[in-house]
Amino acid sequence: MLVSALLPTRAFAIEASDRYRSPRNPERRIRSSTELIVLHTTEAAEHGSLVKLCDRGEAHYCVTEAGKVYRIVDRDREAFHAGRSMWCGKEDVDKFSIGIECVGNHDKAMPAAQIAAIRTLVKELQSMYRLSDDKVVCHSHVAYGAPNKWHKKKHRGRKRCGMLFAMPSVRAQLGLKTRPAYDADVRAKRLVVGDDYLKKVLYGNVDTMRAAYASAPAAPKDTGLFSWFRRKEEKPAAAAPQPAAAAKPKPSPAPKPASAPKPALSAAAPPGSVKELVARGYVMKGTVSKDMTASKIAGSKWNSPDTYYTIRNKVIPGSKIDPSHIEKGMCVWMRK
Ligand SMILES: [Zn+2]
Repeated sequence: MLVSALLPTRAFAIEASDRYRSPRNPERRIRSSTELIVLHTTEAAEHGSLVKLCDRGEAHYCVTEAGKVYRIVDRDREAFHAGRSMWCGKEDVDKFSIGIECVGNHDKAMPAAQIAAIRTLVKELQSMYRLSDDKVVCHSHVAYGAPNKWHKKKHRGRKRCGMLFAMPSVRAQLGLKTRPAYDADVRAKRLVVGDDYLKKVLYGNVDTMRAAYASAPAAPKDTGLFSWFRRKEEKPAAAAPQPAAAAKPKPSPAPKPASAPKPALSAAAPPGSVKELVARGYVMKGTVSKDMTASKIAGSKWNSPDTYYTIRNKVIPGSKIDPSHIEKGMCVWMRK
């Protein structure tokens, strides 16, 4: 028992796909230390991002909007994800960090399924490398720019990549209790501040995600009525999610496409993937946590055949779910 606890390697609980594992792996050095987890945003759509990351070996993992995790570079090797970078006086952060690319934008809320996958992956890596919450940073924390036309000195603020992951509301979603308190490189005058707004996001109280994450799964009062997973064609909601109410507001009258007849659902095979759930018009209603039970999320429909649970790429209909096997991190999907 003691021996197994001391072994450095153990099974990775996350199911990750090797479909985009980089051909660059053999040429990358084995990292001598792992001191940071660096979160990035791809600023581009899923497929193109995966192809580029794989081709260039630019991350260890990539997490899609549906919450699928791809391994790109083996986690013990160096991935080229941070570029010109410095943290606490040490240059070239690639040499001592793990890089996670998240499909999305640095100032846009991410779907709950994706946040849940990032949280699980980060937790797993934190425990594997014994990293505290403040060692989970975003690319903009560590990137720096060389002197140029606008900045005479080396400066922080070359990139805003992954910026949302410094915001308290997003960190709460990820189960991270702390963040870096200050920029040691700026304090030591190794760098100057090159982006005041970014500084306020990283270390101040600018948090533009608060409204989007108002109904955090961690909040006990939550009723799970939020639906994070917005399909691309939908406009982002202007207001914060509706609070729980007995009388649910009528959905806005969206014109139905005339040519799309409703499939015979009872006859159709149950969906086998998150992608299929989304394609069939299901939305993620919430993630099971200590305070957020399945029945809090789905109400009396928690065991309906038309409610689905997803975890580690498995899709389980509500009618087949064993209540004693409903576990933390399971996503609950219902029809829109
Ligand atoms: Zn980045």
